[in-house]
Amino acid sequence: MDMIRERNIVGPLAGSAAMVIAVGAATQLDQQAAAWLIMVAAVAAIAAVAVPLRPWWRSPVTAAQRQAALKHLPPALVERGRKMSAALVWSTWTLLAVRLATVPLLIAAGTPAADWVSDPGQPWYLRAGLATLVLAGAVAVLEATPMWWDTRCRGTASTKVAGPAGLNTAIGVLAGTVFWAVKILGLAWAMHLWPSGWWLALIAAYAAARLAARMLLEPGTVQSAASGGKPVTSDRLRQRVAAAAAGAGLRSPQILVVEKPGPLNAVVGGVGRQKITVFGPGLAETTDDETARPATGVEDEAVAIATHEVAHVRYGDGWLRMLTGTAQAGFTLAVLVLAGNTPGLLHLAGVVSLADPHAVGLILAVLTVPRLIAVPVQTWLNRAQERRADQYALHTTGEPHTVASAWQRALREVGGDPNPGPSYLLWPKPAGHPVLAERLATALAFDPPAARLAPATANAPTTAPAPATDADIVNRV
Ligand SMILES: [Zn+2]
Repeated sequence: MDMIRERNIVGPLAGSAAMVIAVGAATQLDQQAAAWLIMVAAVAAIAAVAVPLRPWWRSPVTAAQRQAALKHLPPALVERGRKMSAALVWSTWTLLAVRLATVPLLIAAGTPAADWVSDPGQPWYLRAGLATLVLAGAVAVLEATPMWWDTRCRGTASTKVAGPAGLNTAIGVLAGTVFWAVKILGLAWAMHLWPSGWWLALIAAYAAARLAARMLLEPGTVQSAASGGKPVTSDRLRQRVAAAAAGAGLRSPQILVVEKPGPLNAVVGGVGRQKITVFGPGLAETTDDETARPATGVEDEAVAIATHEVAHVRYGDGWLRMLTGTAQAGFTLAVLVLAGNTPGLLHLAGVVSLADPHAVGLILAVLTVPRLIAVPVQTWLNRAQERRADQYALHTTGEPHTVASAWQRALREVGGDPNPGPSYLLWPKPAGHPVLAERLATALAFDPPAARLAPATANAPTTAPAPATDADIVNRV
């Protein structure tokens, strides 16, 4: 079996076991030792997911190849995207700066905020809830200007953002504030219910919630992708997607093809028997005549996109994200527990423990820091999984030109910057997918005959790009 067909279940199983054992063992330890144990287990779990993804950690193409790929895209759209990224530089760094600057401010402001909005005689949950609303609201207001600029710039270069930027930002400020208040109140409640093991219970609850969301919401996502469109009843495209799923060794998924305006795309959801939906314009015409007509470009592109989703199912990427998400939650809560056991920090915040309503500022501040590390790590892993799925689609369809034209279509239909600079990967929306220029360059550099003829040796890299990058790939695998 060549590299692209390999599945690794040992890493994720070991990572999951590490998290479960650590949470179990942590209940028997004192809080500080338990927090260190959870942090080590979380890092081990993330490493267990990351190491098998190693060939996909970095772009398989060079910066020069990405640059060259831009020539295969409409110059006006490339220029519009470039201008958007240039305009986003200041808001990205301002948001990051605001977020870091609010850390010490929040620690100091927790006690005055709680005393300003409530009296000591009032119930703790009211005091904590109101103080969180004030503090999270203040942070959201500080972030509102760069956030508004970010929304506005993306809106002008993309078809994804609908509605005026000012309204969207206001909704964001409000929703963000309420979200934090609910989150902090939930944390505080858990602390009061189970003073020693509240955070371990929350890690378990987080894993259970992710599992439930995967079972209930993901098929819902599939459904909502299909909503507003007309299901296509004839069979050819569905048969081709089913063949791609069978080729990946999947139990026959449910496949839905939906004729719908907007970008051509596909989503997958569910557990066990998966459901794959392919949607976009022009799909009805491609399938109404079954075998009589030759496949049109859009049908081939739809198959390539659906094959990318098949790859996510095959590699268990949904499960991997559940594991890394749980590890991230565990890491974050362990940092909070360590902060709650650091007398100097508690003293700065003017509290004796995290359960004090005055401590909500400290909690908000401490939760910011691991997030600044965890979100980039999570999105970096996501990009690696996306690269693997792209490679799988290239290998199994053997049609790099079809994949390339799907990316060209994506720029026309979705917009954005096909080749943004590194600040785009930071804040507030680190990219969960490789940049479009990279995906296009990967398709353009892909050499199907070489890939097919590659020897089926267990560890041989057979991603076989153009000869110029072959050495890079061999070195990295
Ligand atoms: Zn994907």
